Amino acid sequence: MTATTSAVPTYGNYIGGEWRPAASGALLENRNPADTDDLIGRFAASGKADVEAAIAAGAEAAASWANTSAIARGNILYKASELLAARVERGGRELAREEGKTLKEGIGETTRAVQILRYFAGETAQPNGEHYPSANPLTLLYTVREPLGIVAIITPWNFPIAIPAWKIAPALAFGNTVVFKPASLTPLCAVRLVEVLAEAGLPPGVLNLVTGSAGEVGEPLVRDERVVGISFTGSNAVGQELKQIAAERGAKIQLELGGKNPAIVLADADLDQALLHVVNGAMMSTGQKCTATSRAIVERAIAGPFTQRLGERIGGLRVGNPLAPETQIGPLVSEEAAERVAGEVAQARQAGVQLVTGGSRLTENGLNRGHFVAPTLFADVSPESRLGQEELFGPVLGVIPVDGLDEAIAVANRVRFGLSASLFTRDLGKALAFVRGIQAGVVHVNSETAGAEPQVPFGGMKGSSSYSREQGKAAREFFTQLKTVYIDPPA
Ligand code: NAP
Repeated sequence: MTATTSAVPTYGNYIGGEWRPAASGALLENRNPADTDDLIGRFAASGKADVEAAIAAGAEAAASWANTSAIARGNILYKASELLAARVERGGRELAREEGKTLKEGIGETTRAVQILRYFAGETAQPNGEHYPSANPLTLLYTVREPLGIVAIITPWNFPIAIPAWKIAPALAFGNTVVFKPASLTPLCAVRLVEVLAEAGLPPGVLNLVTGSAGEVGEPLVRDERVVGISFTGSNAVGQELKQIAAERGAKIQLELGGKNPAIVLADADLDQALLHVVNGAMMSTGQKCTATSRAIVERAIAGPFTQRLGERIGGLRVGNPLAPETQIGPLVSEEAAERVAGEVAQARQAGVQLVTGGSRLTENGLNRGHFVAPTLFADVSPESRLGQEELFGPVLGVIPVDGLDEAIAVANRVRFGLSASLFTRDLGKALAFVRGIQAGVVHVNSETAGAEPQVPFGGMKGSSSYSREQGKAAREFFTQLKTVYIDPPA
């Protein structure tokens, strides 16, 4: 899987059970977002020929993998989980170096990938259909879930091992073969995940990794008629394009997209608890979670003092090298992302929105070598402004004051997204009203907007998803199709 040129390792694709370079021999560079002088590795810059080879390998392996017992498939996933568990420390370090979240978060995410592999190993022993009564008492009437065939897995950079794991593990568990195209910014985590699955004993062609750009790899992959299912997590703009392509050729598609997640803080809340979870929800992973808190909708009676406390806490966060133990906030993933977020912040400032803390790029003490933006808080944000409506995907939080829960829910819902939402209150009646009224696929009371356990469904409402769900029992629905069987005794 790895070759070394002048101390910088080179990584290939994994196709048909072999690690191999792109057919063209082209490579893409992967650099540390905290220090762009640090070249992490060179990865296959693949093209159409590599995608073709990967799909052909997936097609060849499809029937035999579908006919492998579910328990045997689960055993391989379980073995992979053990291999990854033994490499969590290294994996977390590499993730932090490649993506920019802190070492603690990198280890946490790698541990989550272990749990996901384990969970889906267990899922293979669960029922795979249902038995029904028939109008004819002698008829055996049941459903069985069968794999789709070859599926494309297309993932973003912000959870570079957990998201691939939560798509690939169920795809394989339920008997599909996979062509995996990871984000170009985080190919190393993808290689590491594929390594453990390959070492665990996946037969050749069952899982194929093709690294490279959206245009050269992603497009030909989603357009290929042999690819029956597409599971995509990423931006809304790309998701809409893929939906169109899938609709034209009748492929099954699942989209997990952006968010503009609110945390509502009522005056009766435990404000220390709310402060902790709003700051963590907004700033951990440098605000680059689809479930990050980007709007604090605060009851007007406490909005002033709560905003002040938020500003003090956010202004005091230690920004720096994600591998340093004292660092709380790392860089943005790329220069383009940092410039985009800084531009949005500058625009809000020019429009007169009240800046409480942050508000600019950070360049001192060596931070100029990376893509750093100061953790930023705005007060008195209008719900209809860009800050109130658009996913910024960076360490930026806006406070929106409101008069009570009804207005808070109305404001929270007045965006095109509906991924996750939190409420902080001690009032059970208000908590129940919030759960009923909020338009979000994942709802928290007295905890942060981020977080996803593998045993429950995950996904958004409205523009955040395509109405399907990932993880938990829901994963089986996407990665399988139903067959209904009537068996009657011979006459
Ligand atoms: P992105 O630009 O949409 O890219 C996502 C993936 O799609 C990457 O692998 C990308 O490849 C690929 N891609 C882009 N254009 C494509 C095309 N035309 N055909 C096929 N593949 C294509 O998103 P991102 O910037 O990586 O991720 C950030 C977004 O993901 C945010 O909006 C965030 O909210 C969302 N997200 C959602 C969830 C969720 O579960 N709801 C979770 C995490 C992130 P390249 O890397 O080569 O461009």
